[in-house]
Amino acid sequence: MNIEFSDKLKKLPPYLFAKLDEMKREVRGKGVDIIDLGVGDPDIATPEHIVSSLQKFSTRHENHRYASYKGLLELRISLAAWYKKRFGVELDPELEILPLIGSKEGIGHIPLAVINEGDIALIPDPGYPVYRAGITLAGGKCFSMPLLPGNNFLPDLSSIPETIAKKAKMMFLNYPNNPTSAIADRTFFSEVRNFAERHNIIVCHDAAYSEICYDGYIAPSFLEVDGAKEIGVEFHSLSKTYNMTGWRIGFIVGNSKIISGLGKVKTNLDSGIFQAIQWAGIEALNGSQEEIKRTLKIYQERRDTFVNGLKRIGWDIPKPKATFYIWAPVLLGYSSMRLVLSLLERAGVATTPGVGFGENGDGFIRMSLTIDKKKLEEAVERIAVWKRSG
Ligand SMILES: *Cc1c(COP(=O)(O)O)cnc(C)c1O
Repeated sequence: MNIEFSDKLKKLPPYLFAKLDEMKREVRGKGVDIIDLGVGDPDIATPEHIVSSLQKFSTRHENHRYASYKGLLELRISLAAWYKKRFGVELDPELEILPLIGSKEGIGHIPLAVINEGDIALIPDPGYPVYRAGITLAGGKCFSMPLLPGNNFLPDLSSIPETIAKKAKMMFLNYPNNPTSAIADRTFFSEVRNFAERHNIIVCHDAAYSEICYDGYIAPSFLEVDGAKEIGVEFHSLSKTYNMTGWRIGFIVGNSKIISGLGKVKTNLDSGIFQAIQWAGIEALNGSQEEIKRTLKIYQERRDTFVNGLKRIGWDIPKPKATFYIWAPVLLGYSSMRLVLSLLERAGVATTPGVGFGENGDGFIRMSLTIDKKKLEEAVERIAVWKRSG
């Protein structure tokens, strides 16, 4: 039989990380012990009290059935309390909060609720690949907002052509940012609100890294800005905050109409989050936050060791205030892809090419701090040897 994929599927680029995994396998096959700075996935275990909670709740029969579409009320109440305490923003647990099977799921699905064939969506470039994928599968067209060092990796809203802004239906933003590790302040969020109000654009802010901050920096929520709830939503996740990437639990907050649209998509496509995981999520939110603080200290130490080490060997990169990524300008005039290949094959260090996040990422590579300090020191040594050998 001749199996032909849909035009939409064909438009999706191969998922970058799958392709890089293949390359890593190839190099490993040659016997190289790779130091992997490629994937942003916490290497530190989920805190014990959260794991115990899952153990306890997973044995209870009532948790084995389909979960409710809206998630446990107890979870939504805990999320509202966490949000109020963290950002000072009130949320209605019935209408303004919806749990997700990881925030990637909601980010990927939300365009289906608002995008019609051919509609324009504004996305950051470089950016998390799921924004483009979700919009493409919904039949929308992406317009890239360049994130450049000259503007602290914030989009320059005034450079978006009037005709595009008028037609745009939605916008994705992400601060603290993956991959650039840039941060945004309330002033910028206010500008976004003004721009979105003026042009009737739905703002979808991805705050997956809101809790991964250093040096006393505290990331704001987009919803802290007056009127933000009228025009937008914010995605959050327990993945990075509590080292729970494999558990699949996140949530969306903000505008109730937008959330009801995503809810309608989801009731037609999925059946909620395993209830025992929801109870464990409640434990994560309400229980001790000491382990998060420990995790952040570990990341901060790794950041300092790695960035100071690279500086010693002549690679000067600013220390990020948030996320566990180092966004490094390429060396020696390489393209990001060629630099990544060279570091992989000749230094045994796996990194991620900036171009994989969009064409404006090409002058950079991304390195993750999700690996222990000793390994990061060794990576610096390997890069130093690689650099000396030209
Ligand atoms: C990791 C990540 C997410 C998604 O995390 P989930 O595990 O799906 O909750 C969302 N956005 C960005 C930018 C990320 O890096």
